[in-house]
Amino acid sequence: MIPHEFEYFAPRSLKEALELLGKNADAKALGGGMSLIPALKHRLQTPAALVDLGRLPGLEAVAEKRGAFAIGGRMTHSALAASPELAGAHAVREAAAAIGDVQVRNRGTIGGSLVHADPAADWPAVFLAFDGEATVASARGERTIAASQFFTGMLQSAVRRDEVLTEVRLSVERSRTGSAYRKLRQAASGFAIVGVAASLTLDRRGRIERAAVGVTGVNPVPFRATALEKRLSGESPDAATLRRLCARIEEADPTEDLHASAEFRAHLVGVYAARALAAAAERAAA
Ligand SMILES: Cc1cc2nc3c(=O)[nH]c(=O)nc-3n(C[C@H](O)[C@H](O)[C@H](O)COP(=O)(O)OP(=O)(O)OC[C@H]3O[C@@H](n4cnc5c(N)ncnc54)[C@H](O)[C@@H]3O)c2cc1C
Repeated sequence: MIPHEFEYFAPRSLKEALELLGKNADAKALGGGMSLIPALKHRLQTPAALVDLGRLPGLEAVAEKRGAFAIGGRMTHSALAASPELAGAHAVREAAAAIGDVQVRNRGTIGGSLVHADPAADWPAVFLAFDGEATVASARGERTIAASQFFTGMLQSAVRRDEVLTEVRLSVERSRTGSAYRKLRQAASGFAIVGVAASLTLDRRGRIERAAVGVTGVNPVPFRATALEKRLSGESPDAATLRRLCARIEEADPTEDLHASAEFRAHLVGVYAARALAAAAERAAA
């Protein structure tokens, strides 16, 4: 379908972009367009103006700052999958590489994906498991949103229409820590039927000291499997123990669609949690 008419702005600075978003009450930010453009074409969204973030400087880099990876909000999935700075952050690179197809990865951005808050998107699981934070800017100033407060509903995030997500921060792994992202892909689009990001720290005896588990694709809103995280503390990370402890994920309240029944998703989330944790444990021990 053909989108309705809209004005198009291509600002060259963040300040200009924020002014445009602030003064045009019905304007929307345009990231890679991988979700927004299909929504325009189906007329699910009819903004009066698009403010293209593609020419803004300074939003496409990764740096390590104060114990966190600071990732520019306009970094594409492909750039993150190939980032040398993130070489040791396996879950981050695995999630980036597992998104959609080459074209989607080359255009789509981490900021756009998080703000769009698709319940089957991959980044939310990593953002939650790595105790993420996002910086958002508007004409009123900047604020920080913690991952735990970020996803407010299905396809809804805490980022307001006139705000630009400028930076995502993911905690840097400590020693004896490993991470992994494991997903069951929907065959046509690549979206997660179930996706689990795990970060796991071992103590000196090789037992689990801390685990963080982010889940996407299961509930309408991504979540941390906190009951499982507590249960894992002090346990051995062998495959049989992980399978037993992951058999039930208390926070899972699965949706049902043509790809998987709620019952199947409830089963899959345990299987993929155990797989992600096993891979993370192996890396933590290496
Ligand atoms: C065929 C196909 C397959 C896909 N497969 C997957 C998959 O397997 N896994 C997956 O996770 N995703 C998948 N996606 C979605 C893809 O990852 C998109 O990149 C992502 O959902 C949106 O990012 P974007 O940069 O394209 O944002 P846009 O589409 O440009 O924008 C999406 C929303 O975010 C807002 N926005 C964008 N950037 C910012 C910003 N910096 N600050 C504030 N607001 C912003 C826009 O206003 C809009 O509301 C797929 C998409 C397609 C078309």
